[in-house]
Amino acid sequence: MTGTLLILGGTAEAAALARLLAEEGGGPRVISSLAGRTATPRLPPGESRIGGFGGRDGLMDYLRGEAVGAVVDATHPFASRMGWNAARACTALGLPLLRLDRPAWVAGPEDRWAEVESWDEAIIHLRRTSKRAFLAVGRQELAAFAGLDQLWFLLRFAEETPPLPPPARFTLIADRGPFTLAGERALLQEHAIDTIVCRNSGGTAARAKLSAAAELGLPVIMRRRPPRPEGPCVGSAEEAAIWVRSVLS
Ligand code: NAP
Repeated sequence: MTGTLLILGGTAEAAALARLLAEEGGGPRVISSLAGRTATPRLPPGESRIGGFGGRDGLMDYLRGEAVGAVVDATHPFASRMGWNAARACTALGLPLLRLDRPAWVAGPEDRWAEVESWDEAIIHLRRTSKRAFLAVGRQELAAFAGLDQLWFLLRFAEETPPLPPPARFTLIADRGPFTLAGERALLQEHAIDTIVCRNSGGTAARAKLSAAAELGLPVIMRRRPPRPEGPCVGSAEEAAIWVRSVLS
């Protein structure tokens, strides 16, 4: 197989696709791209590059310079800016683009979810009902919660770097997971959590906290995913590899 594939990554699914293509052998040249948010990223097999491209135009320059023949947008469901830039750049250059998106979580009968569109909406719920919340959101989203000085927050990130801006009252745990049901249940009980705030990221490891919440009868404030560009989309690295073989042969 010939050609160059660019994987926009930063997720387990992106790394799984790079691994799958490397294991198959004889496939395209694969470049995985990471934004550079973590100091010690786990680099997938194959080539990788780190850092933003400089918007749509910078990405177009990069795609031309590396003679990229196809792109897989496997960024996190809540990292949508990169996906919109990729869609615009690929449309302008006539390149095939696939979205690899892990399926969203769906509430079961035992789940007590309040689904919200924004953090402002989440905060209205929190002020009404919570004193001790597990704030399972991205670092860059903490600003929305900084003024809530009546609440205490449990934060968990991959790295111990202090959050900026920090909530008024919080405890920070550094842990990359994977997280188990028993571990999440113990964590929620140990910190006397009364509410979980999170985004509908999907995936199995991060689901454990929701299963633990359901078992303990705890409410979850769940933020819905932002809109994505129209286009082909698959839910697994295996399906993405089939697409790669079909467009880069
Ligand atoms: P974002 O809002 O979509 O992207 C912001 C900017 O970061 C983009 O415009 C782009 O800069 C750069 N960027 C993003 N992903 C990139 C990639 N894979 N390679 C090169 N540059 C990239 O994304 P974000 O929410 O800041 O997340 C950044 C990265 O962390 C993503 O790759 C995502 O998969 C990963 N991640 C995010 C979350 C999350 O909760 N948001 C969770 C886990 C992992 P330029 O415009 O300069 O090209």
